[in-house]
Amino acid sequence: MKIALVGIGKIAVDQHVPAIANSDDWELAATVSRSGTVDGVPTYKDIETMLAENPEVEVVSLCLPPVPRFAYARAALCAGRHVMLEKPPGATLAEVHALQDLARAQGQTLFATWHSRMARGVAQAKAFLAGKSVTKGHITWKEDVRRWHPGQDWVFAPGGMGVFDPGINALSILTEVLPAPVHLQDATLEVPENCQTPIAARLTFTDRITADFDWRQEGPQSWDMWIEAADHRIELQMGGSKIIIDGVDVTANASGTSLLGEYPALYAHMAKLVKSGASDVDLSPMIHVSDAMTLGKRVSVSAFDM
Ligand code: NAP
Repeated sequence: MKIALVGIGKIAVDQHVPAIANSDDWELAATVSRSGTVDGVPTYKDIETMLAENPEVEVVSLCLPPVPRFAYARAALCAGRHVMLEKPPGATLAEVHALQDLARAQGQTLFATWHSRMARGVAQAKAFLAGKSVTKGHITWKEDVRRWHPGQDWVFAPGGMGVFDPGINALSILTEVLPAPVHLQDATLEVPENCQTPIAARLTFTDRITADFDWRQEGPQSWDMWIEAADHRIELQMGGSKIIIDGVDVTANASGTSLLGEYPALYAHMAKLVKSGASDVDLSPMIHVSDAMTLGKRVSVSAFDM
């Protein structure tokens, strides 16, 4: 299938382009970007021209930040194309519902991707926890925003979600592996005095599950969680790519870095969805972020510059 990529920035170049190039399902036929290009692939400055001039492009994959994404997704769906959304799937829940309604009405596929759910240990963790009663859990998601998002000022602008941009990856794993849903009870958000979004957040959910997100972590980075259930302790480390149960590393096919394999798995899933005429939109990670923004206590902290 011919596919177009929109927003040729960090994640498009790092993950989407190689995942498409190495897949038998896909051919990258066009890109839409104001400044980015992919060698040998026609580039358009606006999506309307790309859609009009490339009727054979069946799928549009959107790698833009969340705020500008809705207009592009809507344009692609209205032009009869299937759509794949980077995480988080939108700037608001309501706009993703609108895209779902549009895709359903037109009989097209909409896939709201959560790349961290494709990490190696996640399916194993889900299978292990199935049917068990969770008694406690904790997430530690601490990274250095300057290292992973250089120059990306949009993360601290309204809709950029701040530390929830990476934190939602942890929540996408949590909501995937837990055998029963939890909901947020309490949150504290640390917002730099010159930013619109939090740089750190502490969350408390039902079932004694807590989370600690921080974007000021220098040195070793942490993308880890542990969950206790039925006298067992399950640990997911390195963004879900390593799984330890009761102290024993049980990761299947353990090798490589954490993002390796996640994007190829997303594109393989999208190919199956399109072929079967299905959609996959689970907003539960974003509901927790939205609840934290609604319920959270704001604490103003020192100004932060990228
Ligand atoms: P980015 O490099 O800052 O932005 C991606 C591209 O979006 C830019 O190159 C830009 O392309 C386009 N863009 C930015 N603002 C725009 C606007 N207002 N209107 C139209 N186009 C705009 O961001 P990124 O790191 O790739 O992240 C994009 C999405 O991927 C985010 O939702 C993020 O959460 C997700 N993601 C990122 C990572 C990561 O490690 N960075 C990992 C997984 C997922 P042009 O200027 O060329 O048009």
